[in-house]
Amino acid sequence: MKVTVAKSAGFCFGVKRALKIALHTASCEKNVYMLGDIVHNEDVVKTISEAGIKKIAKLSAGKEKTLLIRAHGTSKETFKKAKKLGYKIVDATCLMVKEIHKIAIKKQKQNYKIIVIGDKKHDEVRGITGQLKKKALVVDSLKSLPSKATLKKYKKAAVVVQSTQNIEEVKKIIEKLKIHIQRLEFYNTICQPTSSKQQEAKTLSLNNDIMLIIGSRTSANTKRLYEISKSLNEKSYWIQSQKDIKKNWFSGIKSVGITAGASTPNTTTKEVVKKIKELAG
Ligand code: SF4
Repeated sequence: MKVTVAKSAGFCFGVKRALKIALHTASCEKNVYMLGDIVHNEDVVKTISEAGIKKIAKLSAGKEKTLLIRAHGTSKETFKKAKKLGYKIVDATCLMVKEIHKIAIKKQKQNYKIIVIGDKKHDEVRGITGQLKKKALVVDSLKSLPSKATLKKYKKAAVVVQSTQNIEEVKKIIEKLKIHIQRLEFYNTICQPTSSKQQEAKTLSLNNDIMLIIGSRTSANTKRLYEISKSLNEKSYWIQSQKDIKKNWFSGIKSVGITAGASTPNTTTKEVVKKIKELAG
């Protein structure tokens, strides 16, 4: 059985950087806290917890404590509040996410209505809208677009995109927005690792008998890879680790394509490959 692993599978540079910063911070500071999980992957979360970094749901007194800002970034309000409470802040926000913040802030200052295409509840999207003085419009699908009349009110608008969105879906939304908004500026802020992963997922799913997409059920970018793959290859399976692999998937199969989300460790992918080779054995 031929097994092909996507070159882009696994950690992106933003996740690698955030992990490096987190582990370094944990090695030199005593009380390190994080609002939520570092990334959406249970194994990585375990590594971080073993390094001594504690997850908290909300900020409390911050004296002699360090707050680590995750790769997704956070709102200005959270920064302000943490500083006021006395936390030392270590910012591991991905530089690609910071770029989205900069664009949104700049265009709002120029009186553009800011539109964010992304998952309404995702921390990255909350972090983007949380940079702005005026409320942004968040659109997560064609269905969630406001009425024609509301859109027409925006004389000029700037669109930024959550870094892990699917460009094909984004394009559909942009086409609709263009119909109603006179002056629309589109900033494709989907990051390069996401684009490469999605592109490779397309190619692999078309060129292999089955596709395995590895990543946590909580990982939005893994979900996107699965959706892309499933739309092109019916035999696409979303697994979290080698434990989820079913032997009957491989009967009569000659080739397997594999990709993994941005927060999936390489060790997990290697274990999947090993298990497939054993099954093919
Ligand atoms: S997916 Fe993209 S934006 Fe998100 S952390 Fe990775 S490189 Fe940064």
